[in-house]
Amino acid sequence: MNKLIVIISVFILISCNQVANKPGGSSMSVSSPDTKIEKAFISFRIGVSQWTSEKRCNELFDLFDKHKGATDEITFFHSVTHAPIPLDVFRQRAGILKVRMEQARKRGYKTGINILTTIGHHNENLDNSLKGNYTFMTNIDGEVCNGSFCPNDENMREYIRNIYQLTTQANPDYIWVDDDVRLGHMPIGLGCFCDNCLTIFEKETGAKYTRESLKKAMNEGTVEKKLKIREAWLQHNRITISRLFVLIEKTVHDISPVMPIGFMTGDRFYEGYDFDNWSKILAGPNHAPVMWRPGGGYYYDNNNNELVGKSHDIGRQVSVLPQEVVSVQSEIECFPYQRLKKAANMVALEACSHIAAGCTGAAFNVLSFYDEPLDEYEPLVARLQEARPFFDLMAKSLGRSALTGIHTFWNKNSFITGKLADGNWLSSGNPLVNHDIYNIGLPACYSGKNAQVTILGKDNIFALSKDEIKKLLSGGVYMDAETLQQLNDMGFGELTGFEIVGSENKDRIEKFSNHPLNGEFAGRERDNRQSFWKSQAYTLRKSDDKAQTLTTLIDYTGKEVSDCTMGVFENKLGGRICVAGYYPWIFMENLSKSSQMKAIFRWLSKDKLSGYIASFHKINLWIREPENGKIALAFTNSSFDPAKDIVLMLKTDNKTIKVYDMECKETIIQSSRTDGPYQRFVIPFVDSWQMRLMLSE
Ligand SMILES: [Zn+2]
Repeated sequence: MNKLIVIISVFILISCNQVANKPGGSSMSVSSPDTKIEKAFISFRIGVSQWTSEKRCNELFDLFDKHKGATDEITFFHSVTHAPIPLDVFRQRAGILKVRMEQARKRGYKTGINILTTIGHHNENLDNSLKGNYTFMTNIDGEVCNGSFCPNDENMREYIRNIYQLTTQANPDYIWVDDDVRLGHMPIGLGCFCDNCLTIFEKETGAKYTRESLKKAMNEGTVEKKLKIREAWLQHNRITISRLFVLIEKTVHDISPVMPIGFMTGDRFYEGYDFDNWSKILAGPNHAPVMWRPGGGYYYDNNNNELVGKSHDIGRQVSVLPQEVVSVQSEIECFPYQRLKKAANMVALEACSHIAAGCTGAAFNVLSFYDEPLDEYEPLVARLQEARPFFDLMAKSLGRSALTGIHTFWNKNSFITGKLADGNWLSSGNPLVNHDIYNIGLPACYSGKNAQVTILGKDNIFALSKDEIKKLLSGGVYMDAETLQQLNDMGFGELTGFEIVGSENKDRIEKFSNHPLNGEFAGRERDNRQSFWKSQAYTLRKSDDKAQTLTTLIDYTGKEVSDCTMGVFENKLGGRICVAGYYPWIFMENLSKSSQMKAIFRWLSKDKLSGYIASFHKINLWIREPENGKIALAFTNSSFDPAKDIVLMLKTDNKTIKVYDMECKETIIQSSRTDGPYQRFVIPFVDSWQMRLMLSE
């Protein structure tokens, strides 16, 4: 095992160097012949009940044939339940799939197998699932999940070798690994802390722990010590998944040397987010194509904030992938697939939204999992066929170019900062601040490399070195008051311009000062009702004469109780800082606050912000880094009201821009005026929950 770890580590090191040494970044690869994207990568994922009988499967093929273009790829699930299945059942299903895939190919589709359970998701259908001498996924308290197994268990690895051999021998065009390959499983939470995994950790680090002593080390002691052991554990998790992927890659490519392998992910903070290295492992020595399926949770359209939330999750996942990964199909899932749960229009928009955030296609998992006719699904398939030209136009125009704009800080180590002060690290959640800031027309960016402004929330900085923090503070940064305190405590006070001198958790209202960034909104108020939504309101003191107040605090009699709760400062490194001490992450959706925020972010970026929606609309905006001077961006009207006269401020010299609606109808818009380095484009009308693609001529 030790030898294997060394081999994997060397491989990872080589991969890292290859990435680091690669010149040019995104713009080179999209235009290179290998990675040019001519149309969207579109697939449907098909449940077992739809393919078991030949008659039913032919009906499915007929439906796709009737709506040509709705999909190019037909991907068959090997199982419908979420624990691994016995090998003999797997073998029997692989035999049927071999025939079904031949039939699909005859009709002109690419086709492959989606292995739903490599190690298993969770407890389901356990009576009919894999049994034997396998180690269950184990949490830090020794509790186990009976539907998911430790990927480091040798017997389990033998099972995995067998199922990937059977799958490859069925002659698919590609193989997908599902998102059960992760280290968090219901009902136990995060793993794997089985005895074998602890022994492996000891070999990696030289430190011997029991579950009890490891839990103590992760949660108690100095911040430095906690961060160190947590970081080592994330690295252990990265290696665990790498080790599994070495096995899968070798098994598949020994039989079929350039078989494309795809991997489905979510926001994988606890696993160490090592997508770039994992993708290189899956490519193997023959550089076989690797595909990716980034995912998240948006199953019904009764909360559409989850739609854009999922796009942000997906954008983050895509931002880590090497340029060679061109087939990036967002997971579009309507589980448990009841048609009325998500409108066909929303399914189509969802695919567009995730393409805007970085994908190059979509994998639709939206059809029935019963052995039943698909009549009720035909309007959905027809709608996706109708939307296909727009998917293609988006994928071709946006490619894999990088997103630019406002980066909600994260890195591969972000998870180590969870519940740092106290509590159980392994119960901490997503290490990011709320994304509401993107709902008012500010551009989302998912990688620090392309950030024009960085957003920092509490504890984020503990995933950074001091040099990295200093570099961040020499650019544009928006932060909450807790982060200000942490930066000052670390000795960065000279660069922040403010300090905290008080806080109150009730009855405070923010009032806009007479500062130019507040413009015509001086004197306006923002009351976020601390009695309803608990939050501290902080009083800041300027620690540098050049710091300036943007808002103060008043109480419910109108009396000023704090002369500064939000302010801006330009430090000696040229970095521009905004500290927000009153509801820094939510409730920005009124005219005065949203206008102020846009003015602040443009100021923070020193007019480098690639663009923003200056009018008062609920719009999500994604802007790509220009390639050869060509601008490409997309936005959604994320409101149930139509939007009229949307004002897009775009950093460009181009005075005209093309706008495409979801029917690919082109309109040319002229800039109405120039404002510094920005052109002002007015888009007359966008209907509710519709996307627009905009390209320079
Ligand atoms: Zn284990």
